[in-house]
Amino acid sequence: MDLGLKNKVVIITGGTKGIGEAISRCVAEEEGIAVFIGRSEKPGKALEDDLKAKKLQGYFIQADLNKTDNCKKIIAEVIEKYGRIDGLVNNAGRNDGVGLENGSPEAFAKSVQENLFHYYEMLYYALAALKESEGSVVNISSKVALSGQGGTSGYAASKGAQLALTREWASELLPYNIRVNAILPAEVMTPLYESWLNTFDNPSAKQKEIEQKIPLGQRMTTAEEIASMAVFLLSNKSAHTTGQFISPDGGYLHLDRSLT
Ligand code: NAP
Repeated sequence: MDLGLKNKVVIITGGTKGIGEAISRCVAEEEGIAVFIGRSEKPGKALEDDLKAKKLQGYFIQADLNKTDNCKKIIAEVIEKYGRIDGLVNNAGRNDGVGLENGSPEAFAKSVQENLFHYYEMLYYALAALKESEGSVVNISSKVALSGQGGTSGYAASKGAQLALTREWASELLPYNIRVNAILPAEVMTPLYESWLNTFDNPSAKQKEIEQKIPLGQRMTTAEEIASMAVFLLSNKSAHTTGQFISPDGGYLHLDRSLT
């Protein structure tokens, strides 16, 4: 299937590692231009070089999305370089474990600011370009938005708000033919997930325990499986899909617990 992403410019926040990296790679493999944002230079440059070696198109912008004005600067740089934006994947985020008993009002506010605000800012500044291209927005949320997890109020609030904003933005942007959808990963092995697993005494036993609870195949979802869904939502093949929450998670969130 030709997704029609050739030379389409797609910005992927946190596109240098984990789920974001898989989305960047998938966009580039579909002959699109992947623009990936991350704070650390090494993985961003390595991805850029790797794509180049494969004769694919990718461009790294090193920036901290939580620093004032950076979202505005990123969009300005992309417009200056490519003159267009066809897709935005809001993905950067971190389950930072700021809860009720292990948090504070200040830590909660910081967590929400860091996990949520740049989702709004990136779309705010990209909007004019997305109106021109009738582009597509994909928000990477989390199953935590719907299931809760415990001990992570700031992250849960941010992920829930991302779903609310997916519906809100899908509504507001109907007149411009801009579609907005959300993906809710559950258990995907990434650098972030690995560092969380490593907080347990026996990480591989913990991983097995989690996998046993995943109905389809008793395995984790791969970052590439999330990426395939993302590029489908970015492409015109999903032209009549908007405001949706999609859970590529092997049935982890929605199927009957008695199945596992
Ligand atoms: P990851 O492995 O930590 O990758 C996160 C990416 O975001 C990295 O490229 C990181 O690069 C970048 N990043 C983080 N904060 C940033 C900031 N302030 N400014 C710029 N770049 C930033 O995370 P992941 O597991 O792929 O998670 C990606 C998204 O999926 C997150 O929104 C997460 O909540 C969601 N999710 C993941 C899972 C899972 O199982 N993995 C489950 C549910 C939801 P630098 O560190 O260099 O900045």
